[in-house]
Amino acid sequence: MASYYLKFHGFVLILLIVFPYFIKCKCPNIVSRSQWGARSALSQRYLKFNPPPYIVIHHSAGPECRTDSTCKSTVKSIQDYHISSKGFKDIGYNFLVGDDGNVYEGRGWGIHGAHVPAYNARSIGICFLGNFQRSSPSEKQLETVQNLVSCGVELGKISPQYKLIGHRQGKSTECPGQTLFDIIKKWPHFEPNPN
Ligand SMILES: [Zn+2]
Repeated sequence: MASYYLKFHGFVLILLIVFPYFIKCKCPNIVSRSQWGARSALSQRYLKFNPPPYIVIHHSAGPECRTDSTCKSTVKSIQDYHISSKGFKDIGYNFLVGDDGNVYEGRGWGIHGAHVPAYNARSIGICFLGNFQRSSPSEKQLETVQNLVSCGVELGKISPQYKLIGHRQGKSTECPGQTLFDIIKKWPHFEPNPN
């Protein structure tokens, strides 16, 4: 009997030790800049407000990608477009998310972005790869973005009181697409009247 209790208590103790790791293990796989072959940023600066109080959701309005290699080349072409055609110092977003279940590191945590002027200094910009004006991202892609947000809060990279908005709330644009915008309106922390 004594050994039964000893085993039982040992089991409970292990559960108590291991359980917090299950709660915290929401961070999706992040493909680093070197892994996707990023060009170096021409310059960078830190967010003015860190951890940032806003998350801005975008879509790329371009092709979707379902494999690691197509997502990498899509992200590279967005970076080329942002630097060479738009004159940005780097890819504009902090992170990009493909339908392959991966997050692609853009400017990354804590760095001032170039995705919506009124919020660049106080937000993390996350771009869904694809055009979601009429169609919805896959469950996998939606879940990856939600996990990235939870992970950011857990790591102290996003304010726990963050407000989530779509690009169109900061500028006249269709981004992040009507269908995706209707989805994020139902997410926790969505802010209908950002300031
Ligand atoms: Zn946008």
